[in-house]
Order: sequence, then C-alpha cells, then structure tokens
Amino acid sequence: MARKKTGKGAPGPSPEAIKREKEKAREMRKTTWWQNLVNDGICHYCGGKFDAETITMDHVVPLSRGGKSTKGNIVPACKDCNTKKKHATPVEMILSGAIKPDLKL
Ligand SMILES: [Zn+2]
Repeated sequence: MARKKTGKGAPGPSPEAIKREKEKAREMRKTTWWQNLVNDGICHYCGGKFDAETITMDHVVPLSRGGKSTKGNIVPACKDCNTKKKHATPVEMILSGAIKPDLKL
C-alpha cells in the first residue's frame, strides 16, 4: 500500500532519507563509541545487563518518524525491549509504562 505524496497527512521522511539514515547507522556500528556501549551491554530501556551479541541498536525516535542516526538518537537495547518498542515513541512508551523517564539530569 504505497502512499503518494499529496501534501496531505503527516509529513514523514522520504524513503531516500530513511535509507540514508540506515546507512549512517551501519557506519555508527563500527565506531568505538558504539562498540563500548555494546560491550557494556546495558539496555537503555530496562537497564539490564546483556551479552554483547544480544544488544541491538535502537533509534529512540524511529527513522520512520524522522529520527536520525546520531549519538543522541541511537541507544543500545536488549532484544526484548527493542521488540516491545516497535514504532512507539519514548513518550508513548512512558505513557504505557514500558520505560521510565530518565530524570537524573
Ligand atoms: Zn531491555
């Protein structure tokens, strides 16, 4: 079901933009910044400690919602949380009780 660009409805990123961000995410996986997060194995959402191979890269704001592949938007997540999250935004996750807001700041 392809939606045509009619200027109607929610503005979303173009498929090209999403593809670009996915490629950027792939590059981010190679950085020591990401490797360190994976090695720490701490899930951003549940705070649990997991084996490096079970940690997945998660976009806090999904690419489909205009999120970018930046350090501020990429977090390590366990498979469980990543599956639970799907396309919900953090606000929706907080409202549903799936995650607690980080109030440390
Ligand atoms: Zn988790």
